[in-house]
Amino acid sequence: MRPMRKVDVVIVGASLSAAAAAKRLVDAGLETVVLERKALPRHKICSGILSPRGHRFLIENFGPLPREVLHEPTWCRGVTFHFPSMVSMKMDFFGGTTPHLHRKFSDYWAIQRSGAEVHDQTSFTGLEDNGDHVVVSARRDGEELKYRARQVIGADGPSSPVIRALYPDYPKQIPWFFVGQKFHNIIECPLDHEYFHFWFHPDLGHYTWSHARDGQQIVGVGFKRGDNFDARHGNVVRYFEDKHGVKLDPHTTHEGCAENFGPSLVNRYVFGRGNVLVTGQAAGFLNMIGEGMSCALHSGAISGEAVVEARLRNRPVQETYRRMIASEVRRTTDQWNPLKIAFERPHEADFPAALMRLPWRERRLVVRDLWRFMLLYKEFKWGREILRAAASRLLGDGYPTTRWI
Ligand SMILES: Cc1cc2nc3c(=O)[nH]c(=O)nc-3n(C[C@H](O)[C@H](O)[C@H](O)COP(=O)(O)OP(=O)(O)OC[C@H]3O[C@@H](n4cnc5c(N)ncnc54)[C@H](O)[C@@H]3O)c2cc1C
Repeated sequence: MRPMRKVDVVIVGASLSAAAAAKRLVDAGLETVVLERKALPRHKICSGILSPRGHRFLIENFGPLPREVLHEPTWCRGVTFHFPSMVSMKMDFFGGTTPHLHRKFSDYWAIQRSGAEVHDQTSFTGLEDNGDHVVVSARRDGEELKYRARQVIGADGPSSPVIRALYPDYPKQIPWFFVGQKFHNIIECPLDHEYFHFWFHPDLGHYTWSHARDGQQIVGVGFKRGDNFDARHGNVVRYFEDKHGVKLDPHTTHEGCAENFGPSLVNRYVFGRGNVLVTGQAAGFLNMIGEGMSCALHSGAISGEAVVEARLRNRPVQETYRRMIASEVRRTTDQWNPLKIAFERPHEADFPAALMRLPWRERRLVVRDLWRFMLLYKEFKWGREILRAAASRLLGDGYPTTRWI
């Protein structure tokens, strides 16, 4: 076995949250190694619609986006919501169009620009927190590697092996969803290609979407793990043809993955333990309609800042991180807070304004359809927890930190 490599910080996963964390650490002069299990640049299943806030973050931290980090169309104007009553609501993003990222290249570009040392094809396999340092185990080409770091940041996505190492039972405590998408050549598609389309339709699935990419149409569907992807997808394709006149060739490729929807709705984030921080979607950050890049970037940056701050002030890093991350929790969980949705503007497009533009009859249909859609999630018993979190937010400055793991 090779001698143990000593560094200041090890980050697990070479994604956007990792790039943001690494940028803060490298800028502060800390030796940072990023471990990525796949060969880089690596593929990442994602629609790639970056929110305006995420776009600003990338420009401010990594500079203007090069053309090769974008798909065609290179931008997106906003979101269109579709309802079973056949009402559609078009909403433009605040501040104009936003980039359609090609995650394979955007993530690679960001991680390179962070200045961190990246070890790809290197899988994190475990860790041991010894109080003043952490020993990280990894595997590359069958060879066992060891790293010694003062801190570790898990930026390793929804299935987070870092969380599994800290809390082996955690994955059993949350519901898991499968999201899958198929790529179709287009015969005819009346769906406006400048928008991301989302269906609030309980018969189609928990999460149904479509948008244009590189001359094809993506048809995506999300549901509770264990259901049949082909059957679910076929149902959506038939619905699109019947109701929207979308005519597609059989799909050319498909992909899917497990997703951890839920923690941000009910303020049940996982931030780690001791010298190990968890960030990005691994921690539970996910905005409305599955937009996770902006909160991955911001939470990642905060995890990096927390390490720098804790070292400067000689404070425990976990306590520092939990104090600093509260602002991103507020932003993310506000997106699911019914009081915030009704009376403020927690999203990056104006849902209440779009609703008010509809005639009275359609407004009523949308509210009814939304309610029926929400009933699909009833079994997860999130409603009461969302209301409890909303009440705490009303009384205090944020969401209760006691709910965090
Ligand atoms: C179908 C779909 C569509 C989406 N569309 C959008 C969208 O349009 N807009 C948006 O903002 N968000 C979207 N999201 C969500 C978004 O992709 C995620 O929220 C975001 O990528 C989370 O970033 P992250 O940095 O937390 O981790 P991830 O992007 O999940 O990256 C984690 C990294 O960790 C690596 N890793 C995992 N295990 C190990 C290990 N053992 N060792 C080393 N490395 C490891 C992985 O290979 C990966 O590179 C979508 C998600 C899906 C599934």
